[in-house]
Amino acid sequence: MTPSTNSILILNNFVDNKAVASSAAEQTHIPVTSPHTGATIAQVPLSTVKDIDDAVRSAKAAFPGWSGLTFKARAAYLLSFYNLLQANINELSDLVVEEHGKTKAEALGDVNKGLETLEYALSLPQLAAGRTEWVSGGVQCRDDRVALGVVGGIVPFNFPFMVPFWTIPLALGMGNTYVLKPSEKVPLTMNRVAQLAATVLPPGVLNLVHGSAAAAVALVEHPDVQALTFVGTSEIAEKVHQRGTALGKRVLALGGAKNHLVALPDCNPEMTAQDVVNSFTGCAGERCMAASVLLIVGEQPELLSRIIAKAQALTPGSKANNMGPVIDESAIVRIESAIAHAQEKDGAQVLLDGRKSASFVAQRAEGGFWVGPTILQHSKSTDHAMHYEIFGPVLSILHCATPLEALAVENANLHGNAACIYTSSGASAEFFTQRFTAAMVGVNVGVPVPREPFSFGGIGRSRFGYGDITGDAAIEFFSYRRKITTKWSEPKEKSWMN
Ligand code: NAD
Repeated sequence: MTPSTNSILILNNFVDNKAVASSAAEQTHIPVTSPHTGATIAQVPLSTVKDIDDAVRSAKAAFPGWSGLTFKARAAYLLSFYNLLQANINELSDLVVEEHGKTKAEALGDVNKGLETLEYALSLPQLAAGRTEWVSGGVQCRDDRVALGVVGGIVPFNFPFMVPFWTIPLALGMGNTYVLKPSEKVPLTMNRVAQLAATVLPPGVLNLVHGSAAAAVALVEHPDVQALTFVGTSEIAEKVHQRGTALGKRVLALGGAKNHLVALPDCNPEMTAQDVVNSFTGCAGERCMAASVLLIVGEQPELLSRIIAKAQALTPGSKANNMGPVIDESAIVRIESAIAHAQEKDGAQVLLDGRKSASFVAQRAEGGFWVGPTILQHSKSTDHAMHYEIFGPVLSILHCATPLEALAVENANLHGNAACIYTSSGASAEFFTQRFTAAMVGVNVGVPVPREPFSFGGIGRSRFGYGDITGDAAIEFFSYRRKITTKWSEPKEKSWMN
């Protein structure tokens, strides 16, 4: 990192294992702000088409050597990378706290979940082995998996470590070389990862270019980028998918979410209340798997009062039992406008108002982007907040007379990331899991994130493209299958015996 004239660090890109200054002019650097205080903690360059081109060239030059290694040899490099990241887990999670605002426990979760994908990639020598079969007399078919080339990753702000690590380990393990465009809102964690990677991976295998839309678009447009993964809002995901596929690239673009939890009358009220609150307030609601709509079947006053009490008890901060800040001022505006719209335009009742929570108001007065947990009670499923991704600590509650009514509300949701059912009946759980229109479904689990080898990914407007982004689906995404059909036996009439 280079000190700027006013001593705020300006981040460099990483190309060929070297820190290189972006070609962006100084006025095109933007501040990275601490969500805790609002203070500027670094300057991130808005890199240019040339910077992306330099990184792609480096990745392209590294590709023959890297893809030519055995799976075992690449796994050995990834094991060194894993050990180095593990050794630096405290520093990495501190960076996540500093730039994103997660609590320390959430930040450790972010890094550890990312490292799980790297652990999985260490088994690629076993997982990616090809098949062989005699398919006819003397004729054998076999297949193996071949790397695609240079791949690009464009990532969101909400998991500074985990989301980039959904794809980096498996893309590299399969033999591809990589150009990452981190989120301009949280560039410090991946910046440190690139510094560490430069000490254990061959040059050009993992490159990093900072920036925002222009750098991301340059990656999408680059003719030498064979495949792209994108994670972010649905609107941009859809555009990246459309443009990338029009250019002939393989593209998987994950978008936003609106996740529904259904609480049946036979649910355990204490467990359900704790899970619902953890789900909608965890990471200040900035998770694509966060619960944002709770459909309560019947009245269940005990469940409702427990949810309100638990959410009300949360205080601002970064320790256990705290809720962290949201990412920036624009998030505050979006969240508070959505609450105001629900109350003033749609007539929703505000059961808990995070705009007025004394401890959060006091914290915001000292600086930073703080808004307390908010619970809205709706009378109509058509309300704006029931559909719009608020992406903050806001829960919309709707009472439904019957389980089928709750199912119909969930099914009308255009997104399809997660849905959960809370019940003590196996038959009811099975009924809902078979009918939810979401790809990641939970039973008595508020954040149903699948763990390797199971793969992560939604449907509907939560996913543009085919397949999932982690697990065995990612092995498929980051390679193509080469099929080799062989015959070595001599034709009968030419056999050496006659
Ligand atoms: P965002 O869409 O604003 O930004 C994501 C990335 O896209 C950033 O790196 C940004 O620089 C880049 N970008 C901006 N303009 C672009 C353009 N025109 N073309 C290409 N790239 C562009 O998203 P965000 O606010 O950083 O992240 C929050 C969103 O991400 C939420 O909607 C959340 O649900 C979603 N998300 C989804 C998943 C999932 O698995 N489905 C996971 C995490 C986050």
